[in-house]
Amino acid sequence: MTVTYTESQPKVTCPSCQGRRVQVIATSPLGLLGPTRRLPCVTCDGTGKITMEFLQRILHGRYVRAHRIKAGRSVEDEALRLGIKPRELTDLENGLPIEGGLPL
Ligand SMILES: [Zn+2]
Repeated sequence: MTVTYTESQPKVTCPSCQGRRVQVIATSPLGLLGPTRRLPCVTCDGTGKITMEFLQRILHGRYVRAHRIKAGRSVEDEALRLGIKPRELTDLENGLPIEGGLPL
């Protein structure tokens, strides 16, 4: 029997695809006006739902990014200021877990 911890956690509608389970990806320089492809949503793995914990990380990441942009700092500048790697800041802003927790 396979047990996954996410199974028991409350799920919420995926904010990336609004529960539609797919993302429409532009395949030409015309953007969404040109040819598009529908791919399974990368945020929710095509399930349309994510855990509350993941949603909180996504919302926190959006807040961190908005705050950084408002302050006029680049990813590199902000990462240096926080004492983390630029890649870690990008992960944080995208709602991905950071090894060792959040410095904020
Ligand atoms: Zn999704």
